[in-house]
Amino acid sequence: MQSNETFDIEYTYLVEDALIENGDIVRGSFVDVPFGVRKSLQTGVVWTIDKETDTKIKLKEIAGKSIVRPPLTEEEMMLATKMSNLYLCPISACVKCMVPPEASKSRKVNYVRLCISNEEVDELAASGKLKNIVHIRILENLKYGRRKVSDIAREIGCSTSMFNTLVKYGYVSLEKDYDITDQSEHREKTSVFNTYDKHELNAEQQKAFDFLWELIQKKTFEECLLHGVTGSGKTEIYMQLISRTVEAGGTALLLVPEISLTPQMTAHFRNRFGNNVAVLHSRLSDRERNIHWNNIKSGKVSIAIGARSAVFAPFENLRLIILDEEHEQSYKAEDSAPGYHAAEVAEEIAKIRGATVIYGSATPRVETYYRALNKEIHYVELKNRANKSPLPQVEIVDMREQREIGAMDRFGVFSSCLLTKMRKNYEEGRQTMLFVHRRGYAGQLLCQGCGRTMKCSRCNMPMTYHEKGNRLICHHCGRTAPAPNVCPMCGNSTFDKKGIGTQRIAEELAKEFPDAGIVRMDTDTTSMKDGHEKLLGQFSSGKAQFLVGTQMIAKGHDFPNVTLVGIISADSLINMPDYRAQERAFQLFTQMAGRAGRGTVPGNVLIQAYNIDDYSITAAANHDYAEFYRNEILVRQALYCPPFSAMCVVRFAGEDDRETYGIATAFCGNIIRCKQELAASVEIFGPARADVPKVNKKYRWVVTIKGESREKLTSFMHTATGSGAELKKNSKKITVNVSFHGR
Ligand code: ADP
Ligand code: ZN
Repeated sequence: MQSNETFDIEYTYLVEDALIENGDIVRGSFVDVPFGVRKSLQTGVVWTIDKETDTKIKLKEIAGKSIVRPPLTEEEMMLATKMSNLYLCPISACVKCMVPPEASKSRKVNYVRLCISNEEVDELAASGKLKNIVHIRILENLKYGRRKVSDIAREIGCSTSMFNTLVKYGYVSLEKDYDITDQSEHREKTSVFNTYDKHELNAEQQKAFDFLWELIQKKTFEECLLHGVTGSGKTEIYMQLISRTVEAGGTALLLVPEISLTPQMTAHFRNRFGNNVAVLHSRLSDRERNIHWNNIKSGKVSIAIGARSAVFAPFENLRLIILDEEHEQSYKAEDSAPGYHAAEVAEEIAKIRGATVIYGSATPRVETYYRALNKEIHYVELKNRANKSPLPQVEIVDMREQREIGAMDRFGVFSSCLLTKMRKNYEEGRQTMLFVHRRGYAGQLLCQGCGRTMKCSRCNMPMTYHEKGNRLICHHCGRTAPAPNVCPMCGNSTFDKKGIGTQRIAEELAKEFPDAGIVRMDTDTTSMKDGHEKLLGQFSSGKAQFLVGTQMIAKGHDFPNVTLVGIISADSLINMPDYRAQERAFQLFTQMAGRAGRGTVPGNVLIQAYNIDDYSITAAANHDYAEFYRNEILVRQALYCPPFSAMCVVRFAGEDDRETYGIATAFCGNIIRCKQELAASVEIFGPARADVPKVNKKYRWVVTIKGESREKLTSFMHTATGSGAELKKNSKKITVNVSFHGR
């Protein structure tokens, strides 16, 4: 049955010759096999088929072919093997990524769709030919696409027999199809957003398009960074490339961060490509996901848009994979094995298939830009906004100065500059977006005199303030120190300890603008069904004048009436304890700034900060990626971080702190021994407490291993851990998570 190099186990089973001869069972087939002493049926994948068997060993026979899934393709098997090696995880976990969830018994129900155009519906309604208002309502309801009969009947409050007359006249037709329970199709189409008109490419876009289309036509593995400022019209280029690719008989995949898989975005694609596109988002039911998967597999659709996991869409003739906003963190699966990065998987798929991968971003990852500079991948730049609206004016507000001159409002969150601008914007009937980093520096000690955060002298990471005991604790090395009364750097004695979150900002805003509509968006407010769409709808329709939110408001949204963007506490982002903190801060500031002035009125951006000289702030204010990169790359080099090294982060989590620490320590000891035996050039750090040391009652410890290249690092890790087996054998109470960074 299943053989492989990692710790998935290979078993040999007997298969009737006939099943193989008639092609019923091939390499890649899913089979049910009796397993263990109880012979319970398990699913396995046929990895190799041997004609000869050693008859001395008594083999169990397979129970049969699994009926639900078609066999894995050779390409999928190659990919699974590659991923298992790349992420130090079992092949079975990789295979799971590639097959859809098993559909629960699919039920077919009645759908109804229009057989006449929307204009004809209007004419019919006006002509008085249809006497029954219910009939007109039904037709109106179908203008945006087909719907379930039962849904319309319920909404309008009519009996399903009302549809028969309409069928008889030939205005609508009925069809049976799988039940799509959450009506996502309909929701996308009735969304309140403007449609996205097709644009003639401007000269700069055209040049980028031509270059990229050239690459795609080669049908060989190509990678390109499409580096375009916010609003440069990358989406239009994607659409036209996809359109060409499909016309030429290929298929195409557009990956977007889950967060920007908005109704707005999907509506654009539905409008342009109609039913030829599958939209794969995380709110789909298993059944819907299955339908999409089958449509892709059977060639019914040639285009898919989706978040991370859509990278596995089973297309034939795949020519193009686009990762929009390639810098987005959500492309990496952090919590579940395999901890894959969609960009890396896309790269492997494209290598196998001979396809082109496009990484699109205004603020590419340092690693991607580094590859482009080194000519490892192609590079195309868009320097101008497509609709000629100028990039917004960005002003950095020095919060130290604001405090000194007493220009903070009574709540200590808005500077007077920001307040004045907000008031003016509000009075002129325009909209404002405010960004707050919610997890923020809640818990960190920020000096209001010099803007510095109290850091650990050993780790140079911000320490966490603990009210209990008035202490600072370094969550990296465990060092503790009493909270200082005066800042050791400047002698000032006032500190910011409290976090500023979205809720607080929304409340303060409401006090300042009692009559304004304020929408707050964060994981708390968007978690209910449709929360995201509803809130965005309120803002986009103009009912609300202020939108306050976390990162989720920074991306992708195109609200022409937003002319002011405020970033409340820029420092909180910069001070995150992560080697990518600066990069993320810069990306966020740039993305947020990109929300302002997308319409006809130029935009303004205010960044409130203490660290006003930090390069991630100044470079964002100057709209200067290169300035950011020049600074950041030096830091990466000095810290031996990607792209100068590859990193493997192994996280241990368990309810018993000591036990978890013990296992992490034992693991660490093991790999140190292995390093010595192999004389491997790796660096090992830890065990250290995780940035967030305790989550869900579980204590978390981290071991970090750095190596000069990903290949050398994974090879070392495979040896050191018995291809991961070493990590699995731990007590069941401890979970281990492996995550790789860098190349
Ligand atoms: P990006 O994804 O690069 O940030 P978008 O694709 O959102 O940029 O495009 C920004 C705006 O420019 C959109 O409103 C889009 O309709 C418009 N746009 C795109 N291409 C053109 C063009 N060739 N001419 C005029 N406007 C365009
Ligand atoms: Zn420390």
